[in-house]
Amino acid sequence: MNRHISPLLPRLSARETISLLAPAKINLALHVTGRRDDGYHLLESLVAFAAFGDQIDVSPARQDHFAVTGPFAYAVPADGANLVMRARDALRTRFPSRARPVDIRLEKKLPIASGIGGGSSDAAAALIALNRLWALDLDMPALCEIGLSLGADLPMCLHGQQTGLPLVARGIGEALDPVSRFPSLPIVLANDGTGLSTPQVFQALLRRDHPPLPSPPAFSVIEEVCAYLQGTRNDLYAASLTLAPGLAGLLDLFVQTGARFTQMSGSGATCFAVFGDNAAAARAAAFLRARHPQWFVVATETRSTSES
Ligand code: ATP
Repeated sequence: MNRHISPLLPRLSARETISLLAPAKINLALHVTGRRDDGYHLLESLVAFAAFGDQIDVSPARQDHFAVTGPFAYAVPADGANLVMRARDALRTRFPSRARPVDIRLEKKLPIASGIGGGSSDAAAALIALNRLWALDLDMPALCEIGLSLGADLPMCLHGQQTGLPLVARGIGEALDPVSRFPSLPIVLANDGTGLSTPQVFQALLRRDHPPLPSPPAFSVIEEVCAYLQGTRNDLYAASLTLAPGLAGLLDLFVQTGARFTQMSGSGATCFAVFGDNAAAARAAAFLRARHPQWFVVATETRSTSES
């Protein structure tokens, strides 16, 4: 069977499978700058996408089929409630005559409700794969509009899926500005098993009018990114800490491993650490795994603009 990785390849024949990485979304900085009348929070976030994530395989079939495997399969619904199925059904409702049966396989490698956007990234990958498989020819704005009906993080994950490049997301996540130059960051992701509900974290927020994110310049080297990040925040951290006190210990451990910068991603509880090179990240991951074998720990890197 032929397998394609790039989302930009042309129409497929009936026997082909589209395989996509649904990357972890990392909020390198997240500022909460306000709240809309409808209750949605206004955010400004510098977002990067990891070379690690869930895996989605989509192929034509005689009848619809959906299967979830992988270390976190047990924690997600394997039916129509899964965001991958909701993405398929959102497209099928709009294009019933084009939406032939499909076999979708999801390998769930990202922990659930952990601030690295696994569900949104899976749904974005499913939209892009089905757009190709069903030859719908939807452009990015059209995909983002459908995506927004599934979740506020869908547009950024669609852009991440398409380009892999870091971006600044504003508003409720729908206004996106790619960062013009950004190096690949060696990074470790770690989660002690705590899942945090994003709505609960927002409810625990005391202040909702923090200062905006400083505009990111064009970055050439990792040191410049870390210096910039020192002047940013994750405004959800204090709220998440009240729900998951173990977060502070995890960030302390990262500091012990020689990380250049550490922070929580999204609403947590996954935290990340930036290192000077991939070997240092791998050593830090090994140290964490030796201490806490049951934790989710991954050494990876973020995509850079120079790869485009
Ligand atoms: P974010 O960083 O965007 O807040 P998150 O990483 O905190 O996202 P997810 O892992 O996307 O959260 O999970 C959010 C909810 O979505 C969970 O309650 C989960 O049961 C549900 N869900 C449905 N489908 C999926 C999926 N394919 N992967 C993960 N979660 C899913």
